[in-house]
Amino acid sequence: MTSVSIRDLSLKFGALEVLKSLSIDIEDGEFLVLLGPSGCGKSTLLNCIAGLLDISGGQIFIKGRNVTWEEPKDRGIGMVFQSYALYPQMTVKGNLSFGLKTARVPRDEIARKVARTAEVLQIEPLLDRKPSQLSGGQRQRVAIGRALVRDVDVFLFDEPLSNLDAKLRAELRVEIKRLHQKLRNTMIYVTHDQIEALTLADRIAVMRSGAIQQLDTPHEIYNRPVNLYVAGFMGSPG
Ligand code: ADP
Ligand code: MG
Repeated sequence: MTSVSIRDLSLKFGALEVLKSLSIDIEDGEFLVLLGPSGCGKSTLLNCIAGLLDISGGQIFIKGRNVTWEEPKDRGIGMVFQSYALYPQMTVKGNLSFGLKTARVPRDEIARKVARTAEVLQIEPLLDRKPSQLSGGQRQRVAIGRALVRDVDVFLFDEPLSNLDAKLRAELRVEIKRLHQKLRNTMIYVTHDQIEALTLADRIAVMRSGAIQQLDTPHEIYNRPVNLYVAGFMGSPG
């Protein structure tokens, strides 16, 4: 089954055409990576799927439902941004529960969900700490937890590791992969990092100036790039 379907999506900022009639189908449980250089429209595409931007044309379906004009909160998605804005005055537990409280989820259910998320992400020992008492990697794990706790089908990750050092990035990459293998949710993951894309993705969509150049498995993209742009960007063997 198709999880997210994007049909002829266009978006303009004034005269600037940022997304150009872009279409893509993402399968249920798939780990799809949107890969491309800075400025090619990755975040804009993710924000359109999340419902955070008004699109200029096209349609977006999630689980077969046309969500093009639905509010972000009704779309059944969880999002993790590059800069993890945790609430500094709240504990980790408070940060994880906050969204559920505002959605009026019953208290015992919140406790159950927070405990399960903390277990999956191995952050149980951190639950009573404040963000200022966490390392960068721990904070990003909590930010991921805030998306996971909502129990949604589709997760959108916008360069969640790009503010971390190389060692932590490699570590969290492995954890995100493990997490996906465990939860089997649909993942749309934005990065400009080829290694991240090649190690995480079921399929990679290589983007350039608001359009998809090639959509295929890491193996195909790397070994059989469709044009010089993809070959050059992927560092494919010549
Ligand atoms: P990426 O995430 O791939 O780095 P973005 O989606 O952030 O790229 O940006 C794509 C293009 O749209 C860039 O040229 C950027 O300058 C422009 N852009 C992004 N957001 C806005 C905005 N709110 N207003 C005007 N231009 C924007
Ligand atoms: Mg971006």
